[in-house]
Amino acid sequence: MGKRIGLFGGTFDPVHIGHLRGALEVAEQFGFDELRLIPSARPPHRETPQVSAAQRLEMVQLAVGGVDPLRVDDRELKRERPSWTIETLESLRAELGADVQLFLLLGWDAFCGLPGWHRWTELLEHCHILVLQRPDADSEAPEALRDLLAARSAVDPMSLQGPAGQIAFVWQTPLAISATQIRQLLREGRSVRFLVPDAVLAYIHAHDLYRAPN
Ligand code: ATP
Repeated sequence: MGKRIGLFGGTFDPVHIGHLRGALEVAEQFGFDELRLIPSARPPHRETPQVSAAQRLEMVQLAVGGVDPLRVDDRELKRERPSWTIETLESLRAELGADVQLFLLLGWDAFCGLPGWHRWTELLEHCHILVLQRPDADSEAPEALRDLLAARSAVDPMSLQGPAGQIAFVWQTPLAISATQIRQLLREGRSVRFLVPDAVLAYIHAHDLYRAPN
């Protein structure tokens, strides 16, 4: 059987245990050979001041180092410009071959925004989509996604066949942690211990990141 690889994109500004615990749980549930965290490039005006893309990447590398099957994939940061997910998928497919099963992890909010994505109707040619759904979220999918959901949803997320093409929902209770909250705490000079891995905490302090400007 081909490899099973999960893909989890984000700004990771900074990476925190909400990302990591969620990623690990899905990776175990689906028996992924790898789950790649893919830090995204941002337009320069949307970067957090004083925290570069290279530093966001280093923090993700520190966080997942030695934790199987989590990996880091830096292809979006190597490009000159913020990249479309479809291009990331095309580049992964070109590298990994046609047989690998690819699973793109998306939060429910991101999934609902899919119709605004560049070439969004082509995404399922390259991957399955796993929608991470919270048990308490009950909003309806936008009209533009209804036909797609009707045609491509699998009832049992464990039953997805082939390298790409289906959508499944994964129910997970996320930890109520966000990078926004972490940046806010750091700006206020408060501790983020136990919200990020110790290695990430040490990096943040060593490089004086996310502090309020003097
Ligand atoms: P910010 O607060 O800066 O918007 P964030 O914490 O939401 O950041 P992102 O880097 O934007 O983190 O998110 C990357 C991915 O991780 C998204 O798909 C998002 O839904 C998911 N995610 C973020 N926080 C959690 C969490 N606590 N548990 C599970 N998944 C999360």
